[in-house]
Amino acid sequence: MSDVSIESLIEIIKLNKLNIDTQKVKQAFEFAQKAHEGQTRKTGEPYITHPLAVAMTLADLRLDEATIVAGLLHDVPEDTKKTLIDVRKDFGSDVAMLVEGITKLGKVKYRGIERYVENLRKMFIAMAADIRTIFIKFADRIHNLQTIEALDAKKAERIAKETLTIYAPIANRLGINVLKDVLEDLAFQHAYPKEYKNVTALLDGGQKQRDRCYLSVHTAVLDALNKENIQVVSFYGRTKQPYSLYRKLQQHSNDPNKIFDLLAMRLIVPTIQDCYAVLGIINALYRPLPGRIKDYIAQPKPNGYQSLHTTVLCDRSIIEFQIQTPEMHEQAEYGIASHWHYDEEGARISDKDITWVQELARWQEEIKDEKKYLESLKIDVFQNRIFVFTPKGDVIDLPEDSTPVDFAYHIHSDIGNKCASAKINGQIAKLDEKLKSGDVIEIIIDKNRKGPNTNWLKFVKTQQARAKIRQHAPKPVWEQVISGVTEKFGKKK
Ligand code: MN
Repeated sequence: MSDVSIESLIEIIKLNKLNIDTQKVKQAFEFAQKAHEGQTRKTGEPYITHPLAVAMTLADLRLDEATIVAGLLHDVPEDTKKTLIDVRKDFGSDVAMLVEGITKLGKVKYRGIERYVENLRKMFIAMAADIRTIFIKFADRIHNLQTIEALDAKKAERIAKETLTIYAPIANRLGINVLKDVLEDLAFQHAYPKEYKNVTALLDGGQKQRDRCYLSVHTAVLDALNKENIQVVSFYGRTKQPYSLYRKLQQHSNDPNKIFDLLAMRLIVPTIQDCYAVLGIINALYRPLPGRIKDYIAQPKPNGYQSLHTTVLCDRSIIEFQIQTPEMHEQAEYGIASHWHYDEEGARISDKDITWVQELARWQEEIKDEKKYLESLKIDVFQNRIFVFTPKGDVIDLPEDSTPVDFAYHIHSDIGNKCASAKINGQIAKLDEKLKSGDVIEIIIDKNRKGPNTNWLKFVKTQQARAKIRQHAPKPVWEQVISGVTEKFGKKK
């Protein structure tokens, strides 16, 4: 860990060219230092090292001034004599609102895996209020994991498991790969020490072979790209993270030979056109594995991830190539956090086509005025989406004003077609009731039901539900006749 100090924090802000008033940051540091005076962490260090480390992570994520200031102050109302009112007086209502959000989230206590639906629910509600609260919570968790050795084993295990079941999946859903990786990495060894040892041993075992392979592929591909005059922005390899390997092994009956992306090479080129050209060149150089060429540029993943993938065979090693433009790379690593980033000239980076953040993107272009922009961040970035839960705790996102019928069709068309009634948070509800973020939905089905009620078309919100219900709507009389005719003449034997 780099040295934790106010100087390091300011340095990160400058290195990342963040458009932030460092005087304000110093003022927040002094405020927090004074408030936490005399307090120490379990590690024995002065308490201020914790909020400082949190703020440093937020600056690494290139977030805005209010978030970094709130990071420095996040434990003040909970653990010191200073109150939220003091924070608001000195740092304004935007910062105070973020600190309040963190304090509220801190009250969510983890009570075992069976309470995890409840935890998730609260996290998502907080996220809907202001997603910057969640960034601070992630940074807080990272530092708590970095200093986890100071805790007793039982508490450490609890925090580590909670990280793997709640925090990392949310980071993944938001597309913030950098956070997901560090959370999983730090938590895995404390949550499942034995499994961690096995997986890292497996990784170490193949490392020499992968290194050799990496070197030869790197040289060969660069040569080929040079010949074709394709500019390379960046080209590097990385070994699969221990936790993600562990998860994959579980899905593939613990057979390491079925894991195809132990070594991934990421190749960043200037344009989309270059991406497709590179894909062709690589597939000509090496034998691509059948069915492993994936075009996430044409069809991005739900969290916005875009890339071209191809898996090739080199000697005895299997390598996955990930080909992207710099914008796609930024999105892949920072996900929703990338919306806070500035480009070299200090302007906010304009956004790409990520379905559920598209609205936010349009907004950013419209709102040129910085102050107004910061104001607008208080508004839910998921303005047009709601997050609801299955009884098992899976998160389903739906458009605003969706109903239990939309939910049912989202789960499965059969559930939609046979949907008889619904429970929202344990209470029987009408099928056209509007769902709210955080609701837990249970669909009660009638097995004998023939199909959907076409009246549902009056209130469903999703395309999916609409299309399925329409299939069951009575057909106009001429279609009935024609289909009758084909049936008759089709049955020639
Ligand atoms: Mn904290």
